[in-house]
Amino acid sequence: MSVYIPLATKYRPQRFADVIGQDITIKIIMNGMIKNRLGAAMLFSGTRGIGKTTIARIVAKAFRCEHSTPEPCGKCESCLSFANGSQIDVIEIDAASNTSVDDVREIIESCKYKPTSGKFKIFIIDEVHMLSNSAFNALLKTLEEPPEHVKFLMATTETYKIPETILSRVLKFDLKRIDANVLAQHLSSICNQENITAGADVLMEIAKAADGSIRDSLSILDQVINVTDKNEITIGDVRNILGLSDESDIINLLKFILSADIKSSVKKFREILSGDISCEKIANTVLDYIYALTCIKSDIEIANNTVHDDIIEQLRDISKKVSLPALTRIWQMLLRGIEEIKMCDRPEIVLEMMLIRIAYASALPDLQDLIEEDCKNSETTNQKSLIDKNDKKQNEILSSEAVISTTKEEPVIMKEKTSESLLDEALKMFPNAILQS
Ligand SMILES: [Zn+2]
Repeated sequence: MSVYIPLATKYRPQRFADVIGQDITIKIIMNGMIKNRLGAAMLFSGTRGIGKTTIARIVAKAFRCEHSTPEPCGKCESCLSFANGSQIDVIEIDAASNTSVDDVREIIESCKYKPTSGKFKIFIIDEVHMLSNSAFNALLKTLEEPPEHVKFLMATTETYKIPETILSRVLKFDLKRIDANVLAQHLSSICNQENITAGADVLMEIAKAADGSIRDSLSILDQVINVTDKNEITIGDVRNILGLSDESDIINLLKFILSADIKSSVKKFREILSGDISCEKIANTVLDYIYALTCIKSDIEIANNTVHDDIIEQLRDISKKVSLPALTRIWQMLLRGIEEIKMCDRPEIVLEMMLIRIAYASALPDLQDLIEEDCKNSETTNQKSLIDKNDKKQNEILSSEAVISTTKEEPVIMKEKTSESLLDEALKMFPNAILQS
């Protein structure tokens, strides 16, 4: 049986041309190599899994390649030694586990000696922000006057933790998250090479979940391939792996909420939750849908890859039955709720309560409608009097029996509320609307 190699390792780029989504950085590096203007130290920063260490390794390979093109030839003795792991003049250090000044002194000591072959001895320092202050100070002296045969290639996810004195002596490259379309295209090419059939929607689902990280996208693809016994992966496989229950379930949840159907909302929410999906994911998906609905209502384009095309069609239908102020209100409530979910030990209860509140709020009329109605009924245009009337009107509505539909068979009647308690509730529901008035 052959040894299993994770896709992220198997398809790790070996040449600049294979790096995806970092075109500007690669162009600057290659031009810098041709013009010999790259200096002794470079820093690659950015979030996880976007190619920092990979690019540093290719740069190391290019510096040591026996041929003079910026792209490493892949054929010379030095390039081949990278492939078989026998390259001894490139030293990789994980600063996360080598943080002390002694660790850095060892590096500095080693800098005195020329490489065993080739022009450069190269140090790749991963997670360089983890070095201690004294370690940085020790390194600084070498960075100020580096021996000609030494190059430092550093990578970090947290640039702000690196002292300014170090930053001012390195060439900095801030790597970008990979665009979902670029990631999906990359996954498609890998699926072809692996003889795996996957639709564009499947690959986009993975790309979206990876949130700009190549490593994450390949790790998800690995898992999805492992769960299927065929040479084809489906959207269902991906959603199972991602803990994404069918998105149409969340659309149905949204429909129940917007129609103020509390009982069905809670029932659907519990059903979705039983499918091994996190509360945060559900809340964020609803948030995405509210955003998309707001865009549709405002006739503006939905930002790329927020919501699937097939979901957008369903949202268009829903948008006809919901107002813009209601969407803004729900958005604010959701944002607050997501913060509460993070802080609470029982996120499912927090989210359930939040959904009930949103569903309840959906039954309330929009403040704007009340004002317009008042305008029609009143001859005066005095703003103050309008607002007073509006407040009064809202109290009247809230004080009357607010019938909130649950199911057709069992309507719940909210009774015996004083106008004060209902006003309190209204203030919670419409904090901005009432305060701004
Ligand atoms: Zn070479």
